[in-house]
Amino acid sequence: MRDLYEVLGVGRQAGAEEIKKAYRRLARRHHPDVNPGSAEAERRFKEIQEAYAVLSDPEKRRQYDQFGTVDEAEIARRWRSRRPAGGQPGGFSFRDIGGMGDLGDLFGELFGSFGRRGATGATPPTAEAIAEIDFAQAVRGTSVVVPVRREVTCPQCGGAGSGGRGPCSRCGGAGALVQTDRIRVKVPAGIGDGDRVRATVGGRAAGEVAVVVRVRPDRFFERRGDDIHTVVPVTFAEAYLGAEIEVGTIHGPVRAKIPPGTQSGQKFRLRGKGVRNLRTGVNGDHYYTVQIAVPRVVSPAGRESARRVGELYGADPRAGLPRSLD
Ligand SMILES: [Zn+2]
Repeated sequence: MRDLYEVLGVGRQAGAEEIKKAYRRLARRHHPDVNPGSAEAERRFKEIQEAYAVLSDPEKRRQYDQFGTVDEAEIARRWRSRRPAGGQPGGFSFRDIGGMGDLGDLFGELFGSFGRRGATGATPPTAEAIAEIDFAQAVRGTSVVVPVRREVTCPQCGGAGSGGRGPCSRCGGAGALVQTDRIRVKVPAGIGDGDRVRATVGGRAAGEVAVVVRVRPDRFFERRGDDIHTVVPVTFAEAYLGAEIEVGTIHGPVRAKIPPGTQSGQKFRLRGKGVRNLRTGVNGDHYYTVQIAVPRVVSPAGRESARRVGELYGADPRAGLPRSLD
């Protein structure tokens, strides 16, 4: 097995960025698509991939630096041989080298921009961004500015990576630059947490951006699908006698009746007071759960009132509950 640093042509002190650049440069040069039918290119390409899989992963790189291999059996053998007799096995973790991990993503990036679809950057790059908005903004719709980090073809070398003699001075041979654009994203009313909206990033190398919307939760209004759920405290008198109370909704306050004899935990619905569905345009509902609040201050008059309230219960409210798990 060749020295992995040698394979990528970098020194042992090379940083992550340098390793990545070296990998990209070599992977492009030796990619089978660029060298059809060349067994040598295929072998080199595989070697480069394997070297990068190890050196781009801090954990595996450490292992490689320490043991000169990431082969589990080989490391275990060496570990056993250096462990003092009767000692505990040393702790080292090993993750499958076969897993592509971010290597796969990198390839999508690499060949999405430079490889199979042609080297001119004819395919607009796609990128992802995250927009974090407040609950109220999600309900009403908003417009936010989000940064989009994306890779664009190097304008100096046009993605080739070389400039006259040696690597391109602008991109260092990578053929691409990472660029951050700030784009304005229109978020429609009714958007939910995790929903995506499309936006476009302009300028040279314009393209589509998939924006994932993250909605910060509200401490009072809880959204489930298109419905809103809240908890509304009432007094014992209101629950017992019935009352008209005000219930806050995302559309503003609503006067709502609670019937006499309402139980704590009972749930009521306000039709159409939920979130407007993005696709159907139909509003969800607002559900409010009544919770009977108990006065905290105990006074002689309160004690007497409470005793009388206690007499109102015809039966033990806990009658019929199981006393244990049968
Ligand atoms: Zn360049």
